[in-house]
Amino acid sequence: MDVIEALHRELPPDRLLTEPGAMAPYLVDWRKLYHGQALCVARPRETAEVARIMSLAAAAGVAIVPQGGNTGLTGASVPLETGSSILLSLERMDRIRAIDAANYTMTVEAGCILQKVQEAAYAADRLFPLSLGAEGSCRIGGNLSTNAGGIAVLHYGNMRDLTLGLEVVLPDGRVWEGLRALRKDNTGYDLKQLFIGAEGTLGIITAAVLKLFPLPRQRLTIFAAAANMEAALPLLARLRQASGDALTSFEMIPRVALELAMAHVPGSFDPFAQRHDPYLLIELAAGSEGIDLRAMIEPVLAAALEEGLLADATIAESEARAKRLWFLREAVVEAQGPAGASIKHDIAVPVAAVAAFLAEAKPVLEAALPGVIVYAFGHLGDGNIHFNLLQPPGVEAADFTALTGALNRRVHDLVARYGGSISAEHGLGRLRREEITRYKSEIEIELMRRIKAALDPQGLMNPGKLLPAKS
Ligand SMILES: Cc1cc2nc3c(=O)[nH]c(=O)nc-3n(C[C@H](O)[C@H](O)[C@H](O)COP(=O)(O)OP(=O)(O)OC[C@H]3O[C@@H](n4cnc5c(N)ncnc54)[C@H](O)[C@@H]3O)c2cc1C
Repeated sequence: MDVIEALHRELPPDRLLTEPGAMAPYLVDWRKLYHGQALCVARPRETAEVARIMSLAAAAGVAIVPQGGNTGLTGASVPLETGSSILLSLERMDRIRAIDAANYTMTVEAGCILQKVQEAAYAADRLFPLSLGAEGSCRIGGNLSTNAGGIAVLHYGNMRDLTLGLEVVLPDGRVWEGLRALRKDNTGYDLKQLFIGAEGTLGIITAAVLKLFPLPRQRLTIFAAAANMEAALPLLARLRQASGDALTSFEMIPRVALELAMAHVPGSFDPFAQRHDPYLLIELAAGSEGIDLRAMIEPVLAAALEEGLLADATIAESEARAKRLWFLREAVVEAQGPAGASIKHDIAVPVAAVAAFLAEAKPVLEAALPGVIVYAFGHLGDGNIHFNLLQPPGVEAADFTALTGALNRRVHDLVARYGGSISAEHGLGRLRREEITRYKSEIEIELMRRIKAALDPQGLMNPGKLLPAKS
């Protein structure tokens, strides 16, 4: 009996899709760079169903590709073109199992949409702080498997820091129940960390215990114009110090990005009368009403203006204004599409080195491809810059994208020289799996391969992703 037949016998009919039309949306990634094929799409509702699918697939030697919200940016969530694997979507496992407000934890299934998790925490007067542009579509299992970052990592950390326990179905179908809600547990290797950031190559995460935080009673949102990139770093340090580390976001937007947003994304605007470069979108949050964030921060801004670190700054006077300022940050991402083809890099360097990195990288790229638009924006407070390159005017999109490999090499070699990472928050997936051999040591790759072999000896979990092909 083949595996599809066995799955049809085991699962209720609505759990399995085999019609090409119904399967199609699951087989193409967010950026439409990868178009895969699959034997079927399985949509289990329970951990026990996931376990059954996994053991049937293991017995038949069939590969499994887990998928959450399919918003990943490295092609890791869609199967290869061979059509020999099962796509396992977690979208129907979307229950919030428990919220323990006193313990500041919640237990959620992997298919929960991130925004739903944030809302459930809010309803319990708690904060789940992970926040990113795709939060209305991405799912917790995907956030865990990519170790997602976003706009509040500076204060709360990334998904790895926000997780206390996991439930995982192993490639052979056994269930590891590690849903511990403990802040302290030194009883051997921390297994959950292996599955976080593994991009579905070691097992299927079915549920997680997440950390919650006090819901901030006040927020302060500031849009500032820095004198230059170098000025941003001392400002970051001063704001952290003066606020008692209440800084949650420190995002950078270059002038070129604001201009493109205003040209292409309705609702975008210039908060200042004069042109500046770069801009900083800054947010602070305080858990208590007794703290006067504004009184803490205004003197820092005034001194920075006086000393010439800042050229201008505006504090949002209302929540509506704060939302409009944050809209600009989202518009900067959106404006890239209408601006033409782009070659994207999700890099990190030590925070103190960002200005030097950008000062060196920009002319290198502009010399390599005259007219290229360096569109570098992002999570400056984490040293994580989306160092994107936009199609130069007068160059065909295909001619531009043909240069991807050569331009990646220039960017990533420089990142390596600064002690950085070629994937800060998006993962390796298919996009960077071969490139990583140039930047990770042999010993690191070998250890990763050994972990993979120990947990997935048949090599059935998300083949062709994260780990480089064996040479
Ligand atoms: C507009 C936009 C903005 C974004 N901004 C950010 C940002 O600021 N920060 C950031 O980090 N990312 C960002 N991303 C990328 C993306 O949203 C994140 O990587 C997100 O965590 C992916 O979640 P997902 O549910 O869509 O996962 P998917 O794309 O479905 O899957 C991602 C990976 O996880 C694996 N996987 C999914 N679920 C499971 C599971 N249950 N068990 C095991 N493996 C699983 C998949 O096989 C794949 O390898 C952005 C994307 C978009 C489109």
